[in-house]
Amino acid sequence: MRSFRSLAVLSVLSFSLPVLAEEAPPKAKPTTTADAPKATCEHGVQKALCARCNPKLSAVYKAKGDWCEEHQRPESQCVICNPKLAEKGVK
Ligand SMILES: [Zn+2]
Ligand SMILES: [Zn+2]
Repeated sequence: MRSFRSLAVLSVLSFSLPVLAEEAPPKAKPTTTADAPKATCEHGVQKALCARCNPKLSAVYKAKGDWCEEHQRPESQCVICNPKLAEKGVK
């Protein structure tokens, strides 16, 4: 019977361990799933906001006055005119 009891303890332990182990990943997952829609494109800009990935957006940026005619991209995404953008990963 003793072995049965220790088995029960073991199963309780092994039961609680996976629960602990499962609690950690979900904390990390929301950030990755939250990051997905904001995924940056090859230009280091949020894909949905990248005028180079979405040429249609150029009209929107031009309308806002946020457009670099010289480099054909939004001024706010023009790392050539704004070298500081490179710190954010903009290419
Ligand atoms: Zn892009
Ligand atoms: Zn520029």
